[in-house]
Amino acid sequence: MTMLWLILAVIVIAGAILVIYQIVAKKKNKKETNKVINVSFGGKKTLKGGKQVCSFCRKKANKLSFYSDEQGKVVGVCQVCKPHAERRALMRI
Ligand SMILES: [Zn+2]
Repeated sequence: MTMLWLILAVIVIAGAILVIYQIVAKKKNKKETNKVINVSFGGKKTLKGGKQVCSFCRKKANKLSFYSDEQGKVVGVCQVCKPHAERRALMRI
């Protein structure tokens, strides 16, 4: 009988550890994603002065994603043009 309780306890503890591990892993992932976004938006002179113009459609956008094209030129694309840039297999900065 004691053995059964021991096994049960081990299962419960293992389950709890697994759940905690998953929560911690998720939090870590979120933090890393935020860091990547911060890096891609920081240190860009062109970001000064609010809205930026999309390199593809020339429309002003609040949020641009930066890619490097075949010539190594940096292009900022809006959310609408993002799939186009990704289809052209541009390197995400
Ligand atoms: Zn665009």
